[in-house]
Amino acid sequence: MAKTYDGIIIGAGVMGASCAMHLASAGLKNLLVLEKGPGVGFGSTGKSSACIRQTYSNYEVCLMAYESLQYFKNWQEFTGLKEPRADFNMCGVIFLMDADDANVHKIMEIQKRAGVLSKLLDHDERRTLFPDVDFCSTLLDLEAEDHECTYKLQVLYESEGGFADPVGTTQDMLDVALGLGARVQFKTRVTGVLSAGGRVSGLDTDFNGVKETFHAPLVINCAGPWAMGMNDAAGVPLREKLVPTRNQIVCKRFPEQLKGTIPMVADMVNGVYFRNDPTGTQIVLGSAKEEDEQEFVPDPDNYNEVADAPFRDEKLTILNHRISTFQARGEITSYSGIYTVNQDDYHPIIDESELKGFYPVCGFSGHGFKLSPVVGMLVAQQVLGQWGRGKTDVPSDFFKRNRQKLGSNWGGVMA
Ligand SMILES: Cc1cc2nc3c(=O)[nH]c(=O)nc-3n(C[C@H](O)[C@H](O)[C@H](O)COP(=O)(O)OP(=O)(O)OC[C@H]3O[C@@H](n4cnc5c(N)ncnc54)[C@H](O)[C@@H]3O)c2cc1C
Repeated sequence: MAKTYDGIIIGAGVMGASCAMHLASAGLKNLLVLEKGPGVGFGSTGKSSACIRQTYSNYEVCLMAYESLQYFKNWQEFTGLKEPRADFNMCGVIFLMDADDANVHKIMEIQKRAGVLSKLLDHDERRTLFPDVDFCSTLLDLEAEDHECTYKLQVLYESEGGFADPVGTTQDMLDVALGLGARVQFKTRVTGVLSAGGRVSGLDTDFNGVKETFHAPLVINCAGPWAMGMNDAAGVPLREKLVPTRNQIVCKRFPEQLKGTIPMVADMVNGVYFRNDPTGTQIVLGSAKEEDEQEFVPDPDNYNEVADAPFRDEKLTILNHRISTFQARGEITSYSGIYTVNQDDYHPIIDESELKGFYPVCGFSGHGFKLSPVVGMLVAQQVLGQWGRGKTDVPSDFFKRNRQKLGSNWGGVMA
């Protein structure tokens, strides 16, 4: 006999876990999370750099990042878990921007309004806080023989930013939901969406070849790069253009000669970002260039999961110029993950679809992780008219489908 639930979430990535935590906290009983992987974080989340910064080009998303950061800072209190795993590392964030980049002042105004602690660092402050970083403002031309360093950068500093453990964060939020009576079933792929009378009524699934149907009047689609397929299966494709794209990362061991700590660095001049890792032994290096977010992944279950040699060489050369003790060559590891880029405006859709009870929560591009603690709150408010854990001032209809494009200056990585 088919099993019946009050609500089902597709996907145990960071968004599915957040939705589960908030919906269960807001009182939704009999909640099921279905995940095709053998555990949490088998999609974009497991590959996430999980950088947490509050530099955004519009107020609402900046506020969402700010609010989420308060939860990351007080994670144990937020989750109520005795031994949470999220492991937030508040190493600070610096955005390196061209001297002529007029965005800085607009961003700082937005940040001030949202409550974010940020400031522009002068030359002495830069040297004192981050002695290893070279603040050269000349674009590094990898083809040119000469490079003349100039020092006219604007350095925007968020003292409270950093990064967290993406899989630990996800597991924590899911554990909260499980503690409140929700269930999770791994290795279970959703294969079809059922509906009756204009309302979602359940899901067909496959567990190691065993087919099963689950009934529910509520389905939250948190399937990350696979979410568009689920929207199609429900017969409600989004008008927004959501595209799975490959995103490459390089990791390199820390040299012994470093003098100080390394913040999370977003180098908007050369188009890279990098950060420390929780063990303090390696740097995680990715791209902040829109052109590196364009490689369409037709099948998110099957793509090239290592970084390409030209990508590795370019990014390591830039890293070496910023922190000379990191050699531009030598031993590295690399991997690729998938962004779900909303090519319309780089921001997610969190909304009920035309099929009643079916909610797409997808299209987070390259910046969803840091927003995740608040995402489930917005969903709980939309679905139940109740807050889950905590409360947000981000308007719950801000991420509606069919909206006018939201402002975005920097593409999917920075939005
Ligand atoms: C390389 C990389 C670096 C990033 N860096 C940052 C960063 O520094 N800061 C930041 O804020 N964000 C970052 N992001 C973005 C962020 O990680 C994502 O926005 C976020 O993880 C998306 O979470 P999700 O839960 O929506 O998707 P996913 O994590 O992809 O979760 C979806 C889940 O659904 C499951 N699923 C899919 N289809 C089905 C099905 N049919 N049946 C059952 N289960 C299914 C999948 O197995 C998966 O576990 C990065 C992403 C990548 C790839």
